[in-house]
Amino acid sequence: MSDCIFCMLANGAIPTAKLYEDEHFAVILDANPASKGHALILPKEHHANLFEMPDELAAEAFILAKKIASRMKDALKCDGFNIVQNNGEAAGQTVFHFHIHIIPRYEGSERIVAWKPGTLTDDLRSEILEKFQSAE
Ligand code: AMP
Ligand code: ZN
Repeated sequence: MSDCIFCMLANGAIPTAKLYEDEHFAVILDANPASKGHALILPKEHHANLFEMPDELAAEAFILAKKIASRMKDALKCDGFNIVQNNGEAAGQTVFHFHIHIIPRYEGSERIVAWKPGTLTDDLRSEILEKFQSAE
């Protein structure tokens, strides 16, 4: 897609801080990092989100996320990772080209992936199980 910023970054049309590249992916540093080392796994081909990714490419992307995180751990001596992958505006996706966030975490830093825990009531559990099973 010619007007997609991540297509341009992944394919070298715009210079960026590239950590890694192979035939299918580029891994770049996020321009607005949530922590030191925050990186993005970008497929070179345009797919808007996880649902539009071919299965094999999606599998490759998550294997690559593991590889990049392992190397980042050695390089930056971080203590953990948040691996985040947003799909859809409702989930906070702002760039509609599939990407995986690799966010190194350091002891003592604040939680950034957090939610207010709800309650799984009996009614809710039955409703979800029923709807999920009939959506097969
Ligand atoms: P999301 O909210 O999951 O769609 O995340 C989009 C991410 O892309 C954000 O963390 C942005 O900081 C990052 N981003 C947007 N434009 C650029 C850019 N030109 N170079 C690097 N990262 C970018
Ligand atoms: Zn794109």
